[in-house]
Amino acid sequence: MRYITTVIVGAGLTGIMSARTLKDKGYEVLLIDKGKSVGGRMATRRIDSGKVDHGAQFFTVRNERFHSEVDQWLKQGFVKRWFGESHPRYMSPGGMNALAKTLAKDLPVQLKTEISQIEQQRDGYIVRSTTGEEIKTKTIILTIPAPQAEALLINSKIEINETEMEKLKHITFNPCFVGLFKLSDKPELPENGHLDQGLPEGMMRIVDHYKKGISDERTVSVYMTGQWSKEYNDETSEHVLNHMINLSKDYFDRQSILSQQLKRWRYAEAVQFLKEPYLEMSRDNRVILAGDAFLSNEDPATHTRLESAFISGVLAAEHLAQMLTHKW
Ligand SMILES: Cc1cc2nc3c(=O)[nH]c(=O)nc-3n(C[C@H](O)[C@H](O)[C@H](O)COP(=O)(O)OP(=O)(O)OC[C@H]3O[C@@H](n4cnc5c(N)ncnc54)[C@H](O)[C@@H]3O)c2cc1C
Repeated sequence: MRYITTVIVGAGLTGIMSARTLKDKGYEVLLIDKGKSVGGRMATRRIDSGKVDHGAQFFTVRNERFHSEVDQWLKQGFVKRWFGESHPRYMSPGGMNALAKTLAKDLPVQLKTEISQIEQQRDGYIVRSTTGEEIKTKTIILTIPAPQAEALLINSKIEINETEMEKLKHITFNPCFVGLFKLSDKPELPENGHLDQGLPEGMMRIVDHYKKGISDERTVSVYMTGQWSKEYNDETSEHVLNHMINLSKDYFDRQSILSQQLKRWRYAEAVQFLKEPYLEMSRDNRVILAGDAFLSNEDPATHTRLESAFISGVLAAEHLAQMLTHKW
């Protein structure tokens, strides 16, 4: 059986930052994700020769540490300012998923592997996948969305820290339905391609990726609110898209649609989050849970986002590194 010092489950921004932090300090890590690519909710889809971001569109910066990291990303051309003066929105010129791939470039990653169980042993843990693959490890950082982490932990054989488990149960997420459209004509949207004000009820955001500068084709994504997405949860994709198109009539014509797809995010944004940057889920403190729903104490914001994922990933890994150096 393979042995890795730290297994990180989930290769979204939280997992990538945990892995980078530990690797930079000289620790052995393996990032595991069930998806075909790293990035998680930093998601970009190709539509013919065009591209469309259909998870996070941009990020903002408040925290000093994130600020200095983003300065490096700007210098290296990984990101650029999109719009906004007092609170600039930053985007990735190759699409948000390209940024995730760049950040994960030198990390050991195993994709298409869904972790279904963790089993505690006398001297560490076994991480088990749905296909029966087993990896032995000393420490684990879980960075999957909190409700999925709760289900995984319930299905695992671990001496759980019940106090932390109670906290975890309070985290809830909203879904988000996103319609992806390729159009033949230019949509009616502002010069920067982004609109999130004065939209019809139920619609949260609409983005033209040609104007955003990441697509050669007229690709548009339409984001619906959590409430709307919940209401339409049981409807067929065709029905949901039809409603989205009706609501979008001021921005593009039904006749201009060349192709359409629906992405149903089950866990998009945490509605109830914690003001703790990570939780130690096992009584021996070796299984840590991090993610965008774990805001640091100093975070003035009241919503989960890429910045909170970044900070949580870094702080969880720094804490684990301390423990690996001094305790284990
Ligand atoms: C529609 C939408 C719009 C958004 N817009 C913005 C925005 O404009 N600005 C902003 O800052 N934030 C935005 N966000 C939020 C932002 O994308 C997230 O806060 C951030 O990407 C979370 O990163 P993460 O690493 O914590 O989680 P994720 O990106 O969700 O990563 C978790 C990873 O775990 C993997 N995984 C899950 N279960 C398992 C398992 N059992 N085994 C192995 N792997 C597993 C998943 O495949 C996934 O890759 C948006 C999110 C969505 C969905």
